[in-house]
Amino acid sequence: MATDNSKAVGFIGLGIMGLPMCLNLVKAGRNVIVWNRTIETSQQLAAAHPSAVTVAASADDVVARCDLIYSMLSTLEASEAVFPSVMRALAPGKMIVDCATLTVARMQQIAFAVRSTGAKFLEAPVSGSKGPAEAGQLIFLTSGDEEVSVAAAADLASMGKKTFYFGATVGKGTEMKLVVNMVMAVQLNAVAEGVTLAEACDLDVNALGEILNMGAMASPMMKLKFPMMAAGDLPPQFPLKHAQKDLRFAVDMADQHDAAVPLSAASNEQYKLVRAEHGDSDFGAIVHATRRPKRKSD
Ligand code: NAP
Repeated sequence: MATDNSKAVGFIGLGIMGLPMCLNLVKAGRNVIVWNRTIETSQQLAAAHPSAVTVAASADDVVARCDLIYSMLSTLEASEAVFPSVMRALAPGKMIVDCATLTVARMQQIAFAVRSTGAKFLEAPVSGSKGPAEAGQLIFLTSGDEEVSVAAAADLASMGKKTFYFGATVGKGTEMKLVVNMVMAVQLNAVAEGVTLAEACDLDVNALGEILNMGAMASPMMKLKFPMMAAGDLPPQFPLKHAQKDLRFAVDMADQHDAAVPLSAASNEQYKLVRAEHGDSDFGAIVHATRRPKRKSD
């Protein structure tokens, strides 16, 4: 089925990721009907793009007014809070694309419920953080109903640089996403320990960042996060509480598959240590798990 650009699409959840994703749909010429728990975010978006963005009264209002609906909610709790409303308006012909990072079990539960109304479902968790979301450079890891994959293809291309489709079995996209985020969280944990040890040895931490970024370990993440971690200036791009959520989901998934991920399990404990105090900061705040407070004599 080709995308019908004349009809508005729905967008539920305008957080760190959802807002820039929605803006890229608008930039691509889409009319969007939005709902967000904090209504001011929706209202500000609509005020900035009055001809393209309409604020809906509720999540089920979005679904009632659109055939193709994107959802970008944060956690299992958020999904469980909002989806009962989504479900109320589902019917044959409606299509849901869930871009959140949840568990395989939750994605499959949503898919089952959506399909039981005659509607179709695609899971589409994303790799890439706030910057790639703003730049339309996300990577979509999708699986589910192919009809939705085709209908959403142009929109996903305006929000991302590549869409992978892993077939009809819902859960494969989420599995891939959790593996990717597990690797990323452990990698940043290792960088954090490097910062800690360099500081303990009175080394120049900025020089450490320069050396890492000149060598084989250089990466966009290292370039972005190292200076933030070294300076302790960590506004949330990917909140640490979400990184720990994904690590927990990945470690649970490994347990279900009898796969050994001891480094990731240990790293999960480190993220848990700092989650209460630094959960809303960027996940570079993992540096606080090991960093020692400066001594008085320093
Ligand atoms: P976020 O900013 O923390 O929140 C996303 C949305 O969830 C917001 O619209 C928020 O509404 C809504 N929400 C939270 N709790 C709710 C509840 N109880 N009821 C209704 N709505 C609720 O999250 P995000 O960083 O955009 O991430 C969204 C998803 O993408 C997550 O699953 C995350 O793991 C994943 N992800 C994030 C990144 C990243 O770098 N940030 C990268 C890749 C994937 P309010 O505005 O009212 O709070």
